[in-house]
Amino acid sequence: MILLDGKKTAADLKQEIALSVQKLKKQGKKIPHLAAVLVGENGASMTYVNAKVKACELVGFKSTLIKLPEDTTEEKLLQEIETLNNNKNVDGFIVQLPLPKHINEQKIVMAVNPDKDVDGFHPVNVGKMTLDLPCFLPATPFGILELLERYNVETSGKNVVIIGRSHIVGRPMSILMSQKRTAGNATVTVAHSRTKNLKEITLQADIIVAALGKPEFLTGAMVKNGVTIIDVGITRVEDTTKKRGYRLAGDVHFESVAPKSAFITPVPGGVGPMTIAMLMKNTLLACERKEN
Ligand code: NAP
Repeated sequence: MILLDGKKTAADLKQEIALSVQKLKKQGKKIPHLAAVLVGENGASMTYVNAKVKACELVGFKSTLIKLPEDTTEEKLLQEIETLNNNKNVDGFIVQLPLPKHINEQKIVMAVNPDKDVDGFHPVNVGKMTLDLPCFLPATPFGILELLERYNVETSGKNVVIIGRSHIVGRPMSILMSQKRTAGNATVTVAHSRTKNLKEITLQADIIVAALGKPEFLTGAMVKNGVTIIDVGITRVEDTTKKRGYRLAGDVHFESVAPKSAFITPVPGGVGPMTIAMLMKNTLLACERKEN
């Protein structure tokens, strides 16, 4: 079993990005600038946004964090987005999801200028991704592709089962892995909550991407020997033995699945750090595309 070490791979990637930033500096060019908008005080969202700001510091990007109160109106948030769209200094920005219930997320995603949409959520980027055109790939699927590539995991002709069809993970992952690309050319099955006999399907899989948000859902009995496992799930599970009162659990029951796996991502330290690294990569791309 080989551990797909997202923490180490993300660190390597960030180092490569930091070198690119140093080069840009030497050439007297613009330094990438990422802005993040956080509405409210959701604990997990604050953790993610802080990690993104910290990653910017590490690679040498400029970053701006815009914190807005929970009761921010949709109109006010749309105004903030318009300001960021028009701010020439900002290369890319994200609006941390989920948003408070009174704000229409789709309206917000649609308001972001696609050229600054480093999350890759705007329909223009989703459309371009589907057509295999240059775009911003959503960070989590982009990170998974990068991890598979860097560990030389063979995907061509393999049976890939993706559990989950969300717009940010499962759906894009299924499109990308079926395309003609290095970590692609796979035969992809997308499973979801209406899928019948999931175990029969996962037992046929050479590669499984578990992205359903149900802690330790995929067990050893559901996978064949030699499988490659990508565990996207991150759920806070109550754990009184921990100081913070919870632990982070993936969608895979690691103890029973790992012994049967050729490759497997741990949680934490797998897909999570890659997601942040790919956001940095997209911001660098946004800056370079603007300059060219
Ligand atoms: P989501 O929007 O809640 O989607 C979950 C998907 O799983 C849905 O398509 C749902 O089916 C499917 N599903 C639910 N129960 C199922 C079951 N019993 N069998 C088969 N399919 C089932 O979730 P998401 O945003 O994609 O996130 C999934 C997990 O990944 C969460 O734990 C999230 O925290 C984590 N995540 C991690 C990262 C990272 O950087 N590591 C990034 C994003 C998300 P239906 O469509 O039929 O409802």
